Amino acid sequence: MFPGLVGISIPQLRSELRGRVIEPDDVGYDEARTLFYGGFDRRPAVIVRVADASDVSRVVTLARETGLPLAVRGGGHSIPGHSVSDGGIVLDLSEMKAIDIDPQGETVWAESGMTAAEFTNAAAAHGLALGFGDTGSVGIGGLTLGGGVGYLVRKHGLTIDDLLAAEVVTADGEILQLDAESHPDLFWAIRGGGGNFGVVTRFRFRVHELDMVLGGMLLLPATPETIHAFIAEAEAAPEELSTMANVMPAPPMPFIPEEQHGKLVILALMCYAGDTEAGEKVVAPFRALATPVADMLKPMPYPEIYPPDEQEYHPTAVGRTSFVDEVDRAATETIVERLEASTAPMRVVQLRVLGGAMARVPNDATAFGHRERRLMVNVGAIYEDPEERAQHDAWAHGTSAALQRGATAAYVNFLGEEGAARIHDAYPGRTWDRLAQIKARYDPTNLFRLNQNVPPTGVEEGAR
Ligand SMILES: Cc1cc2nc3c(=O)[nH]c(=O)nc-3n(C[C@H](O)[C@H](O)[C@H](O)COP(=O)(O)OP(=O)(O)OC[C@H]3O[C@@H](n4cnc5c(N)ncnc54)[C@H](O)[C@@H]3O)c2cc1C
Repeated sequence: MFPGLVGISIPQLRSELRGRVIEPDDVGYDEARTLFYGGFDRRPAVIVRVADASDVSRVVTLARETGLPLAVRGGGHSIPGHSVSDGGIVLDLSEMKAIDIDPQGETVWAESGMTAAEFTNAAAAHGLALGFGDTGSVGIGGLTLGGGVGYLVRKHGLTIDDLLAAEVVTADGEILQLDAESHPDLFWAIRGGGGNFGVVTRFRFRVHELDMVLGGMLLLPATPETIHAFIAEAEAAPEELSTMANVMPAPPMPFIPEEQHGKLVILALMCYAGDTEAGEKVVAPFRALATPVADMLKPMPYPEIYPPDEQEYHPTAVGRTSFVDEVDRAATETIVERLEASTAPMRVVQLRVLGGAMARVPNDATAFGHRERRLMVNVGAIYEDPEERAQHDAWAHGTSAALQRGATAAYVNFLGEEGAARIHDAYPGRTWDRLAQIKARYDPTNLFRLNQNVPPTGVEEGAR
């Protein structure tokens, strides 16, 4: 028995579950407690790799009965490390990867342990696709529950805009089927409200016909002028084109000429999800902004947008997320100055032009409340020496604040451990109150609190 565990032993737990129970002495424990980001050396009492919804229900009940903190893990890309805890229970969904595709109906049921790349590859076998984020190893669970902003955001909206239904295990261990008619309040809340409301075991998505895209990387020299012009082109481009402009020192990658390494570039990740010949015309003005440092834009099958990730890469990073109403000339000068002033080995200001399908959904239709904002701006720094954390954090904070235009805001999926006020920034206006009321209905004791927590109405904020 582990501390605080009332009347249940690990052998008994093993016998009750179809999934795998991993204890600190077991082979694979260290790998199972490792997240994408480095810097979290947390040792859970037990990690349960659940196999189905009834396993999930059992583990949720165990957490409720024992009072041990419950961390929920999908793809393990939590930025603040919420999916692993010291001394608690980790409910790990990563072995739940069943997928059921209806090619005629263009819908998919997918278990929540899949990654974006796994889903994308499976759907592509039927010429179908769904928009996730920029990285293939991110879990569809965490990404979808926070909204999901990626390569198809302007064409098809957020990932949640294609969510039709979900199966959720709530704090009392009940397995609920949600959609617009059944538990509509909870269905609203899980579309942007994060992991606050229960464990999603599977999602039902609408998917779209998509075969080839014109996509990949375009690297341009970064100056205030090129950054400003890039954003203007991205805003004027048809909705088929979604872009992520990473302004950063050129990394020492083989496809970048050596003399460019360390110089500021716009490393743009682009995806034109339409006829690729038309796409060539749309990307031509970007290529013409300056002589490209590298041009890897090409027609490709959609899944190639996710090149394989390095399994052993676990960077330590700080960051700030925001939405802004514009990136003006003064802002582009600030971007260059701040990036040049940082001493972090790698630092980035990422500009994502939004709009299109995402902006056509009303702000109160889901718990993602930033639909009218024109751009998302994420500032990040990767560092090695833990003693330097405060310095890089202050740089990220200062840079983000200097770029703010319009009300402060946050994308919940890019928030770090930044305090209650910043979680409020993720849920503007009435959204916060609605979420807190729904939380009080479905999780009144705040069992699901290792997340960007929205406490139930009446419970103190920040209480863990
Ligand atoms: C390298 C990198 C690139 C990224 N790029 C993008 C991007 O382009 N677009 C974008 O929108 N986001 C992006 N993100 C953010 C990402 O969406 C979040 O970090 C997300 O929470 C990761 O989900 P996960 O399942 O991998 O993480 P996990 O660490 O497994 O989970 C994170 C949290 O989500 C909740 N959660 C996860 N699965 C479930 C579930 N099934 N039921 C209930 N709660 C659950 C839990 O609260 C958990 O603590 C990126 C993150 C990283 C690290």
